[in-house]
Amino acid sequence: MNAFPPHQRSLPPADGMTEAERARILAKAALFPPPPMVDADGRRDLLGLSRAELEAEMVALGEKPFRARQLWHWIYHQGERDFARMSTIARPTQAKLAERFVIGRPAIAAEQTSQDGTRKWLFSWRDGQQVETVFIPEEDRGAVCISTQVGCTLSCRFCHTGTQKLVRNLGAAEIVGQFMAARDAYGEWPTPKGGSGNKDAGGEGRLLSNIVVMGMGEPLYNYENVAKALTIIMDHEGIGLSRRRITLSTSGVVPMMDKCGAELGVNLAVSLHAVTDDLRDELVPLNRKYPIAELLAACRRYPGASNARRITFEYVMLRGVNDSEADARELVRLLRGIPAKVNLIPFNPWPGSAYRTSTPEALRRFAEIVNAAGYSSPIRRPRGRDILAACGQLKTESERARRA
Ligand code: SF4
Repeated sequence: MNAFPPHQRSLPPADGMTEAERARILAKAALFPPPPMVDADGRRDLLGLSRAELEAEMVALGEKPFRARQLWHWIYHQGERDFARMSTIARPTQAKLAERFVIGRPAIAAEQTSQDGTRKWLFSWRDGQQVETVFIPEEDRGAVCISTQVGCTLSCRFCHTGTQKLVRNLGAAEIVGQFMAARDAYGEWPTPKGGSGNKDAGGEGRLLSNIVVMGMGEPLYNYENVAKALTIIMDHEGIGLSRRRITLSTSGVVPMMDKCGAELGVNLAVSLHAVTDDLRDELVPLNRKYPIAELLAACRRYPGASNARRITFEYVMLRGVNDSEADARELVRLLRGIPAKVNLIPFNPWPGSAYRTSTPEALRRFAEIVNAAGYSSPIRRPRGRDILAACGQLKTESERARRA
């Protein structure tokens, strides 16, 4: 039931090599699994189960399948964690559920709020591993930036997370849990009916109106858990966040981009950061595997991309490295024919980083050239820099346990 949203398309035909590469990526992801979602007392976490899995749990408990639908409403629409407060469920059943299950959330290990209102949480999971999640409020909307892996296998040179080895993938419960914990913090339950914008400020309802899958990790290297989590988040009978309000950012895992577009249909952001393969090989080493031409070809065929739903190209501005006028012109040439917008990100320094932020003048000139070619190219105002919550600054102390 509702395994995928109704717009699901089939994957474009792939050659054998692409299929094999996808299988390899999925098999590798399975080597870094999340721990079982079970509390120390043996109770299972219901968070992150698909509707079908939730139904199977209820049937195994001797309950009718409709119980799963009721629970879904309580968990994802009402945000309720206490079975005793689920008023549509009879008391004996509430007690039976509480004996066997919990509805989890990550533990908050630390929390910081920036001068500009950006809020960052350090969340801990059952096995003690940690990730960071950031909420970026704006006047008419607010985006939660969620993480998908503890650490990252890629080592993008400008990114603090990239200095932290991949520890493991996050499970669907941990990915959904970050968003739900952020909504807990703002008391945004039950799910507001409208779209974006704080009601007090004249908006339609949701303060936490958008999700950007741009935190720690490469989401397409943890595709199955990410897909499951986003499917839960998009479900109309729960959190009900539209796929148009979700943006998944990849550094360019080309074989998985088609799959993501066909199955999830969320907005796509691509960490481009360079216009030549030589430089991108250095800044985003994944480029050696999937060079710029292949990456842009995957963008050209990304389902649903249109002038109304443009692909975002992230471009971190590094002084004297990738920020010349010639770079800007080459960027425009590369993007020709792609419904695109370009986010120019002034580099956010972190301890030990080798780069400097472009000068305001270089930023302005670069933006002008891209803009004049018809691509919106906002210079992203750094958010949460003072608490190391800005793009590319997230990192935790989690380390992969040494193998015995
Ligand atoms: S930019 Fe993203 S993919 Fe690259 S190292 Fe950082 S977290 Fe990993």
